[in-house]
This record gives sequence, C-alpha cells and structure tokens, in this order.
Amino acid sequence: LVSKLPEVGTTIFSTMSKMAHEYGAINLSQGFPDFPVSPQLIELVNYYMKQGHNQYAPMPGAPALRQKIAELFQKQYQLKINSETEITITAGATEALFVAIQTVVHPGDEVIIFDPAYDSYSPAVRLSGGKPIHIDLSWPDFKIDWEQVEETITNKTRLIIINTPHNPTGAVLGSEDLLALEELTQKYEQLYVLSDEVYEHITFDGNNHKTVMQYPELAKKSMAVFSFGKTFHATGWKVGYVIAPEYITKEIRKIHQYVTFSVNTATQMALADFLEEESHYNSISNFYQEKRDIFLEGIKKSRFKPLPSKGTYFQLLSYKGISELGDVAMAEWLTKEHKVASIPISVFNQAKTDHKVLRFCFAKNESTLSKAAEILCKI
Ligand code: PMP
Ligand code: GLN
Repeated sequence: LVSKLPEVGTTIFSTMSKMAHEYGAINLSQGFPDFPVSPQLIELVNYYMKQGHNQYAPMPGAPALRQKIAELFQKQYQLKINSETEITITAGATEALFVAIQTVVHPGDEVIIFDPAYDSYSPAVRLSGGKPIHIDLSWPDFKIDWEQVEETITNKTRLIIINTPHNPTGAVLGSEDLLALEELTQKYEQLYVLSDEVYEHITFDGNNHKTVMQYPELAKKSMAVFSFGKTFHATGWKVGYVIAPEYITKEIRKIHQYVTFSVNTATQMALADFLEEESHYNSISNFYQEKRDIFLEGIKKSRFKPLPSKGTYFQLLSYKGISELGDVAMAEWLTKEHKVASIPISVFNQAKTDHKVLRFCFAKNESTLSKAAEILCKI
C-alpha cells in the first residue's frame, strides 16, 4: 500500500496519553477535562434517547440546535446567522476542519498555516492535494506578521487557516489582526479563510474572543469552526459545527453528507436545550481562568517559566535553564521519571523548532493541578 501520509505517525496526543497511562503519570498532555459533564446535560441526552430520538438527524444538523446556535451568535456577537443555510453540525471540530479544507482546496492550491499549529490542519490540506505553506508566529508573543503573510501569497494561495484562542500557545487574535486579514481577502479574490474558534468561550483577563464573522467582508470568505466538546467538557461526544456563508455552506454539506452524513441525534437535541441557559457558557472563561491561576500559583516557586496564556485550557512552560533535553525527550522524561505528562510543542511546528517549551493542560480538578505543580516545583 502506498501511504497517503507517509511521514505521519500516531498523533502526539494519543502517544502522550498512552505514555501517561503506562507510567501512572498525571496526564496534563492531551487536552480533555478530568471532571464530569453537567448531570443536567447528561439527563437531557437520556431524555431524548428515551423519547425515541435515536435515528438519523437531518444531514445539516438538528434544526433545534442550529436555531439555538444562531440565537447564541445573536446574543454574543449581535450577528445574524441563518440557521437553515449557514450552520452545519459536524462530528466534532475535527470533521468540520477536514470538510472545510476539502471544500475549498483543490490539487496544487497553497494553504497558509501558522506554526505552531494544531496537528490536523496540514494532513487535511495534503489529503485534498493542497500544499501547506508554513509561517512561524513570532516568539515568544505568538503574533502574526501580516506583511510576511502578504509576501507569501501567490496566485495559488487558496486558504489561510487561523486559530484563536490558539492551541498550543494560548494567544488570541485582536481586531487589528482580523482587519488585516479582511483586507487581504478583499485584495486577493481567490483567497478563503478557515478560522478554528473551538476555544471561543475560554478567554482570560478581558481578552474577549473575536470571531471572523464580526468582520462583514471577511465573513463573506470565511468558515468558522466550533466545538461543544470544548465548551461543555464533553470531548468524547464529538459534536461541533461550522458556520459559513450560504454559497460555501452548500459545498460544505455536499462533502459532510458523504463523510458522516449526520451527527448523534439525541446529543444534538440535548445541547439545543442546554444552550438555553446563558450561564452554561458565560461562566466558562472564569471557571478556566481560576484553574489557570491555581496552576500558575502552584508552579510559582518552580524553575519553569510560564508564557502568557490568554485563552484555551493550555499553559506553556519554558524549561530553559532546567535541562538541555529537546522538548520531546523532556516530555518523555517528565512523564516517565516524575509522573507528569505534557505535550512538547516542537511537534506543532513543521520545522520542529525546539524552544524548550512544554504545553500543560489545566482542564483538571484543583487537586490534580496542585499535585502536578508540587512535582514540577521539585525539578
Ligand atoms: N481545533 C483545535 C485547536 C483543538 O484544540 C481541537 C481539540 N483538541 C480541535 C480542533 C478538535 O475538536 P473536536 O474534539 O471537537 O474534534
Ligand atoms: N485538541 C486536543 C489537544 O490539543 C486533543 C485532540 C486529540 O486528541 N485529537 O490536546
């Protein structure tokens, strides 16, 4: 068999979680919460299953859920989204990202990806015949140099992928970034934007999330991707969605219908009800900011140096001055010898640049975070 992704192995998330399990380490590697989903939400799923919502949902998603998402957008961003024609429910953000890329990228097209980047973008681009063009975010403030972006654009550039709040760095894009991007999409007609906004509800210190959909000209060329897994602590449920203008959504659905067709019906119905209550998503930033701060307080006396985390549930820690090991080796050593698992961030970088920084997930109970911090203080 000729591999379509010859240089790809198992993802770093599976690798590190497996290692954490094998060595009995506290798992701050793969991003998932170690606390339960709201019992009310679980009850709702049960309820809808018992009510008989167990067959295929409509291909674009349960109408009730799409309606609630549109209402949420109106409340949060004062934006009108047409739930019939502009929202498609997908099997997690991962499917949304894959389908969105398939929708616009033709063989030979170039796609701009900012490194460090979430690991699914580049393989998805290559599987659609596109060519990833990597641009490094500045270090250590993780900003995009928009002049460099423009210099990189050729007549083959089809797509720019952004991610805000950003995994793995916790950086967030500001209006100046989105305005610069909007200008580029107006100047270069062939260009589209894929905006990964799965952490929209997790921002800190007043760094409110801005969506590409808030910029009218940019919105005309954009697909924005979201995930209920992140928002409601249910990464295992794999329910996400993509918002895009009608002419793009039409094409997205042509592909989505042959990838998964539709997503778990009862879960969609339950999520629709759960979205009714604003506190279910309004309080998430505070909830995670507290966790971030508990972790930061815990490692204050350690030799690890935190980089600013403005959103997501990830904290980068530099171990410069602690060890000469590369970040992959350091993450392994910490897991095996000290029983705290993290993610090396060079793997999110095409050039594998090693800044001696590890990513720690703080979507964990206070006791888990304190135990991990205690260990890190002894290193
Ligand atoms: N994008 C980013 C930036 C993520 O961190 C994740 C989840 N780790 C995803 C997409 C995938 O989301 P989902 O689990 O809903 O497929
Ligand atoms: N998004 C999660 C992370 O960044 C992991 C997702 C996965 O395991 N594929 O850790």
